[in-house]
Amino acid sequence: MKITQNCDLTRFNSYRIPAHCRIAYFPESADDLAEYFGNQDPSTQPVILGSGHNIILAREHYETPFLIFNGNASHIDVHGQTMTIGAGAFTQAVCERAAAHALSGFEIFYDIPSSIGGAIVMNAGAKDEDIAGILETVTYLDTHCPPTAEPNRPLGTPGSSLARSRRPRTPNAEIRTIPNHQANFRYRNSIFQDDPTKIVLSATFHLQKGDPSQIRAKMEATKAERWAKQPRDFPNAGSVFKRPAGRYVGPMLDELGLKGHSHGGFRVSPKHSGFIEKTGPGTGAQLLELIRDIQHRVHDRFGVELEPEQRIITAP
Ligand SMILES: Cc1cc2nc3c(=O)[nH]c(=O)nc-3n(C[C@H](O)[C@H](O)[C@H](O)COP(=O)(O)OP(=O)(O)OC[C@H]3O[C@@H](n4cnc5c(N)ncnc54)[C@H](O)[C@@H]3O)c2cc1C
Repeated sequence: MKITQNCDLTRFNSYRIPAHCRIAYFPESADDLAEYFGNQDPSTQPVILGSGHNIILAREHYETPFLIFNGNASHIDVHGQTMTIGAGAFTQAVCERAAAHALSGFEIFYDIPSSIGGAIVMNAGAKDEDIAGILETVTYLDTHCPPTAEPNRPLGTPGSSLARSRRPRTPNAEIRTIPNHQANFRYRNSIFQDDPTKIVLSATFHLQKGDPSQIRAKMEATKAERWAKQPRDFPNAGSVFKRPAGRYVGPMLDELGLKGHSHGGFRVSPKHSGFIEKTGPGTGAQLLELIRDIQHRVHDRFGVELEPEQRIITAP
């Protein structure tokens, strides 16, 4: 497993906010995770990153270790209409593979920059589709499961890929596979966001047989439609806020005259007010100040509490 001391996190967050962590691990397999958890103080919960397209690095330095998938652990296996995919696989590569096998269901993810693990944690999606709509099962490493939990596949038992690894010191860590309905998927949320001690390792998806040219056409049309509306010229991390019930974020910000409003190196995108883009040197703290400013203004005018969709990394 690659390990980087004093790791520069700039290229691992799509805002390109400069920050460092004391140490970063790049797991390529469940064995690597077992090695990691076998050598760490179990009370230190690492920060997990997929491809970093939905995070805000609140600090300039992190003592907490980072576990970064970003393209590692990225196997994609196709059996009939089922795809089994590693947490680190990029959605674009997954879409290409599905299209090559005439499998439909992943098309909207072609232009949602993500790892499969991140897409599951966030229940990523667009329009009326989301990852929950095609996911069958998720396999994850439960690093701090409650002692009363029914054991599934304890680390070290035959059949577990972790069995080949040094026995971890985390006594309760185990691999679990759960069906879709146990992942508690909601709008841009899942059981994994509620509990960051669960690390997504892989998932299976059930797809429909389709016409390759129609699959490809939907991928390209979705991408073109999104590029016409959304900013792509400056670093950003997609929609900043979740859509509040019965309202749209962009029009509320437009009504408040916030389109183009800037603070530090960040501004509300002049192309789509639901996005904030980084236009110059800026820190995560400045970005959070801008977000809080927007939240206050929206609350004062519309009485609406805007909830950030982007995950704010506040670990020490
Ligand atoms: C231009 C642009 C457009 C976007 N459009 C959309 C859109 O249309 N719809 C949409 O839903 N999103 C959109 N996003 C946001 C982003 O693409 C998604 O939220 C994406 O799923 C994030 O995945 P990631 O791998 O980058 O996760 P990260 O940003 O790395 O992480 C997100 C969260 O998941 C956790 N995490 C990541 N991997 C794992 C794992 N293996 N196990 C446990 N926890 C993990 C992290 O700790 C963090 O809390 C957009 C972003 C950009 C930049």
